[in-house]
Amino acid sequence: MEDCYQIFTQRLELTNPWTISRGTAAQKEYAYLKLESGGLTGWGEAAHNSRYGESLGSVRAGLELGMAWILENPTDLAGAAGRIFADPAIPRSAKAALDMALLDLEGKQRGLPARAVLGIVETVPPVTSFSIGIDDLDTIRAKVLAAGDYAVLKIKLGTDHDEAIMAAVREVTDQPLRVDANEGWKDPETALRHIVRLAGQGVELIEQPLPAGRLDEVAWLRERSPLPLFADEDVMDSADIAKLAGCYHGINIKLMKAGGPREAWRMIQRAREHGLKIMLGCMIESSCGISAAAHLSGAVDFVDLDGHLLLAADPFRGLRLEAGRVRTSEAPGLGVEWV
Ligand code: MG
Repeated sequence: MEDCYQIFTQRLELTNPWTISRGTAAQKEYAYLKLESGGLTGWGEAAHNSRYGESLGSVRAGLELGMAWILENPTDLAGAAGRIFADPAIPRSAKAALDMALLDLEGKQRGLPARAVLGIVETVPPVTSFSIGIDDLDTIRAKVLAAGDYAVLKIKLGTDHDEAIMAAVREVTDQPLRVDANEGWKDPETALRHIVRLAGQGVELIEQPLPAGRLDEVAWLRERSPLPLFADEDVMDSADIAKLAGCYHGINIKLMKAGGPREAWRMIQRAREHGLKIMLGCMIESSCGISAAAHLSGAVDFVDLDGHLLLAADPFRGLRLEAGRVRTSEAPGLGVEWV
């Protein structure tokens, strides 16, 4: 595999500027990995996130570190995946890109879709939610009206005008809703007030109500909350799951936090052992990263794989949206190709 890889960056323009409680982005620029071996190509995407201390530079350096592990023994790709996951010098989104590229390549070598390489039986996945970011109220109403084809919407809150946002949403839709506060409610009493109100507005679950790391307060909230609470910023990989079981009802698994599809699959199994519900989520990603996640989506309870749907132009193709479900192609590996 010597010299048969490329690490490069690609800018992704968003259809609309994207705002959550932490800030706004109009575009993303991510690092990609193209691994080539025996005429086959494995693709990886690193949708880095500054919330987790990652930058484009640190991720590119991490991809080079990971490639050194792969090139050390190119005939043992599964072994390389394990060494990459265990290397603390490699940022998690870079681990995710390396893992998905190795999985893509292995699937193509074996003639199997990525899910089959992982040992996941194909089933019909849950419908995906479609996320509505924070915006002025007219824009929120317009975005909700434009999202009528999706069976469920995820509303970003955690602002000082959450009630006005919810009123605007409910003016124009009766769709079921999920709410993501993105750590934006500052104390458990405030969070409880919001959640009690939201429970009367057709909301089915609440994601990350409080800043991460305050599990005692989440446990207090769970005792009183009329809606299920899901951890997002509070959960990274499978090592986090045991301590969350008494605090949250469920977890949001993302490949870019976990460090790739193999660890995300371990998280699904660990969460089941602890009786936690499972949402499969994403960052803003192209169809490359979303496809890697979608291969796991038949094994979860809730799907939130809409990152690629927020892009003005997707550099990969291969995914399709079918009756509100994100479906992978039948091709081996991840089932995507660079456009
Ligand atoms: Mg979230």
